[in-house]
Amino acid sequence: MRFRVPGYYKQFTCIADRCIDNCCFGGWQIDIDKETIDFYDTVQGDFGDRLKKYVDKEAGCFKLNNGQCPFLLENNLCEIYKELGPEHMGLVCTQFPRFTEYYGNIKETGIGMACEEAARIILNDSTPFILEETDIDEEEIWGEYDSSLGQSLFILRDKIMSMLDDTSLSLSDKLCVILDKCDYLQNLINNNNYDEIRKFCSDIDLIEDIKASSLKQDTSTSIITSNDNSKPDNRVIKAINMKIWWAYLDLEPLNSQWQELSSNTYDYLYENSNEVCSPPYDNYLLEIYLTRLTKYYVYRYMLKASFDHNLTGKAQLIVSNLIILKDLFIFRKGKDSNQDDEKILMDIIHIFSRETEYSEDNISDLYDSFIFDDVFSCKSLTNAARGI
Ligand code: SF4
Repeated sequence: MRFRVPGYYKQFTCIADRCIDNCCFGGWQIDIDKETIDFYDTVQGDFGDRLKKYVDKEAGCFKLNNGQCPFLLENNLCEIYKELGPEHMGLVCTQFPRFTEYYGNIKETGIGMACEEAARIILNDSTPFILEETDIDEEEIWGEYDSSLGQSLFILRDKIMSMLDDTSLSLSDKLCVILDKCDYLQNLINNNNYDEIRKFCSDIDLIEDIKASSLKQDTSTSIITSNDNSKPDNRVIKAINMKIWWAYLDLEPLNSQWQELSSNTYDYLYENSNEVCSPPYDNYLLEIYLTRLTKYYVYRYMLKASFDHNLTGKAQLIVSNLIILKDLFIFRKGKDSNQDDEKILMDIIHIFSRETEYSEDNISDLYDSFIFDDVFSCKSLTNAARGI
């Protein structure tokens, strides 16, 4: 099996007691795998009793104490690690914030933005996106993976990453192209036209496509034309963004931080403001950070379409998330313009990630909105992306 990780992956180590928003508090359910539960059952003495008291065997998780893991010590270190050693921590505890996906004979792992240290590493990664690859001794997992589609999407993803690394192009153009090409491919996927998918992904030159788009009229593969690739009126963008927000505000709030941040941002930018939002800071710097975030989303989500065949949904997720994140940033910066941009982003990104990336229900609600709500049509999101 081939094992792939992004170039920045090895920089990650948990900063534990130096972590401001430790993953062991915040009200998340902390799952424990069966093997670990069985071992905890055998531990004797006072510590064994504490394990029995605070492990919910039926639900397969820790019983939280005021939203906090009962084994988190005052110095923010882990009591289980201290008492039993790292080999007896559960899978979730040892793996977080890593995520993994299996594509047949390929295993891909990354670090997730719900961890502030991971967010810091990803935001600061100024190098072009690369994947480091090694051979590992693990069984291949094929499951629902559509390998024909997957092979084409791997090619397309490489091209998208190269486009995102091209600093001569604007992020807004890059996002429009992602929406456009994914939507075009979705039609081919729906019609099982695998030959055309393969040919399209192999032949397409995304960078050239953007450069040529200002010159060319409508084509069979492009919704971006010389007539509509300019930035729409700010009022149009604001109206679209506001409706995008409704879908995110409807998610089940997983913690109070998100509830407060999201409703304050919405009120500040839409409910109580007659102003058309525009970023009160150096756009160029934010564009760099948002581009790095885009690479994270593309790496983590795009290939999932080889399981559910919903490629447009992945493009919608990427663009909508960026719109929300940009608004969260504008709100925080507007409230205190002296705050460091990177610090604001690290903070809002991990709060946003915990709300949107770690709850199956919330993810599925978002995908439903993408399908049923017109504001998430590619045309509408393309207009919104022009405002990024
Ligand atoms: S959030 Fe990240 S850095 Fe903080 S304790 Fe968890 S894994 Fe470690």
